[in-house]
Parts: sequence; C-alpha cells; structure tokens
Amino acid sequence: FVEVATPTIISRQMLAKMTIDDEHELFSQVFWLDKNKCLRPMLAPNLYYVSKDLLRLWKEPMRIFEIGSCFRKESQGSTHLNEFTMLNLVEWGVPMEERTAHLAEFAKLVMETAGLPDYELEQEDSVVYGDTMDVTYHGIEVASSAMGPHPLDGAWGITTTWAGIGFGLERLLMLREGGRNVKSYGRSITYLDGTRLNL
Ligand code: ATP
Ligand code: MG
Repeated sequence: FVEVATPTIISRQMLAKMTIDDEHELFSQVFWLDKNKCLRPMLAPNLYYVSKDLLRLWKEPMRIFEIGSCFRKESQGSTHLNEFTMLNLVEWGVPMEERTAHLAEFAKLVMETAGLPDYELEQEDSVVYGDTMDVTYHGIEVASSAMGPHPLDGAWGITTTWAGIGFGLERLLMLREGGRNVKSYGRSITYLDGTRLNL
C-alpha cells in the first residue's frame, strides 16, 4: 500500500459527489466552516479523487491507504468522538471474485497488527455504500468495508473494480487496552495514552 495524505478541509461539491446532500443522514453531522467548506466526515471523497489520477499513472492492482482525522457531530456515547482517526485501505483493480477475500485479508492484517485477533466479520447495510461488511470486536464495530463497481464510481470517473475498508483507530486502541470510553484514546488535552492527566 502507498500512503497518501490529503486535506481535512473538503468542499461542498466533494461531499455532494458522495451523495451526502441535505437529505442525507450524515449531512446533519457535518461541521461546516463556511458555505462551501467543511471538515471531512470520511476519507473516501479524497481517496476517490486522487485514485482517478493515480490510476492513470500506475498499473492495477493499485493499493493505497490514508490515516487521517475525520469529524462528525455525534450524540456522544462511549464509542463516538467528534474528531476521530480513520485508517482507510483501498485496492483498485482487484479481480471481481476476489474482492471479499481481499477485504477479509485486509481485516486480518489490521486486526492482528492491532493485537485483536479475536474479531468477527458481519454483513451490514450502510447509508452511503449500500451493502457492506463490518469488522466487529466483542460486539463493537471497528471497521466498515465496501466494494465496487459501485453507483458512486461514475461521479469520480472510476471504472475499475475496488475493495476498501475503513477502521476507527481510537476504537482499536480502546479495545486493545481494555478501555471503556473511546474519549480516553482520541486527540485530547485531558488524556495521554488512555490515562487522565488532571487527577
Ligand atoms: P457507527 O455506526 O458506530 O456510528 P459508522 O458506521 O457511522 O459508525 P463508518 O462511517 O462506517 O462509521 O466509519 C468507519 C469506522 O470509523 C467505524 O467502523 C468506526 O470504527 C470509526 N468511526 C466512525 N465514526 C466514529 C466516531 N464518531 N468516533 C470514533 N470512531 C468512529
Ligand atoms: Mg459503519
């Protein structure tokens, strides 16, 4: 996988191309900076954008990843942060019949590396991607995946097959450390490595 690093500020148009408009469930969770700019709620729009260009330069299969902050207005709870860190892996040009196996391989790679080999794969229905496969650990969702050809691809000029998966790194860290609240593991001025500083 080749690492890419893309901006956390994205345009309204980039979001609209993900079909996240004002009728969409995620839309009300978006932090707007002004009329045309917001803090990205996901990495996918930028990954679609750079991939279209990279696919012209590089041979398929092409694998890229990004680790970056994402922002969503959430009704809090122990597994949600307003600012969290996503790890997204995408393979472009994966053979159709190998997409699910590759997603399972990526899940295994990340979960074993995170020290959480005891994970499960579950079918889910995503508001953005339709049918997806989730990775869960002791009942908590840690990742969602999707594959293409997909109805969103056309808007980005993508015509190849793909398989992608996005992990929430704070949830992985919390679960590995046996923590109860993801807030202790996110970007914080109160917690360092899961420990409260102002005791
Ligand atoms: P949930 O249903 O738990 O709210 P989601 O399905 O909306 O999550 P996705 O869009 O699938 O989340 O994002 C991929 C991954 O990013 C999730 O599996 C999770 O690990 C992580 N994630 C999503 N939202 C948050 C958040 N607000 N705080 C921390 N991690 C998050
Ligand atoms: Mg999900």
